[in-house]
Amino acid sequence: MHTHIIPEKLPRFTDKFGYGDFIYLDHHKPGFAKMMKGHKFFREIEANCWDPQIRIDEYAGNKTQVQVVCTIPVMFSYWAKPADTLELSRFLNDDLAQLVADHPKHYIGLGTVPMQDTELAIQELRRCKEIGLVGIQIGSNINDLNLNEPQFFPIFEACQELGMAVLVHPWNMMGFDSMEKYWLPWLVGMPAETSRAICSLIFGGVFERLPKLRCNFAHAGGSFLPTIGRIEHGYNCRPDLVAVDNDVNPREYLGKFWVDCITHDPVMLKYILDTVGTNKVTLGSDYPFPLGDLDIGAFIEEMNLDKEVVEGIFCDNTLDWLDLDKKDYL
Ligand SMILES: [Zn+2]
Repeated sequence: MHTHIIPEKLPRFTDKFGYGDFIYLDHHKPGFAKMMKGHKFFREIEANCWDPQIRIDEYAGNKTQVQVVCTIPVMFSYWAKPADTLELSRFLNDDLAQLVADHPKHYIGLGTVPMQDTELAIQELRRCKEIGLVGIQIGSNINDLNLNEPQFFPIFEACQELGMAVLVHPWNMMGFDSMEKYWLPWLVGMPAETSRAICSLIFGGVFERLPKLRCNFAHAGGSFLPTIGRIEHGYNCRPDLVAVDNDVNPREYLGKFWVDCITHDPVMLKYILDTVGTNKVTLGSDYPFPLGDLDIGAFIEEMNLDKEVVEGIFCDNTLDWLDLDKKDYL
């Protein structure tokens, strides 16, 4: 339920819009492309980032039939002019919709929307539903604003009303510039970003006001679940700081949102299962990126979990999160 894909051909949005570091792909040799941010090299990717059949074949190698796909967070482009982010989002979402239409037994799509503009975000969210996407992926912060900011509430409200699921993915990592060495934005910043997102949605009362909103958080919720004891203690000892917008204990929300299983650690996954419940952990891979679980779910099969729990992680919990029916994929 957490894999990334990008269209093989991207317009040169930087040239088109006349500003900004939009991503484009430089297909410099067969099977490889340089992701360029503006005119600067960002990272090299392989054909499994865009080729539907290569992806299906590689997934088959891990005995996995269906991929829930979404864009790469660097594509969010929330920093751009809203109308331009909308145009980019529409391009990416149409590409996803086509992919799902071409391979309905293998792909499920989560769109992207211009979160920096409430009205345009809801407009594109509605269109995502119309073209067959079942939810959206959003960033852990929106141009450094936390997800509890009032301008985002109508978007979450629309997600609940339309039955669109939400995947929250870390990006635009806090502390990026001050800890670039050792890949720390990915190793330290990303888990902190996801905890920031969950705490904001809890303490800002978003979950409380939208009980039917179906949210899933990348990388097993980042550092949120491992530090829930500290977070709850903070709520108890300094309610004047923590409980100013919502007076419900943060632990009350465990079991009300989903997380993926990307922990790379059976001991941690056991803890996550105990904490959120076995029906709230979903099979994520972060494929095709190297920091993901590219031996998809293999460590879970070695954990001696009940068959029912494994079935839940591998399939049923994701269907539950997305409100989909298993028989449509058989
Ligand atoms: Zn990811």
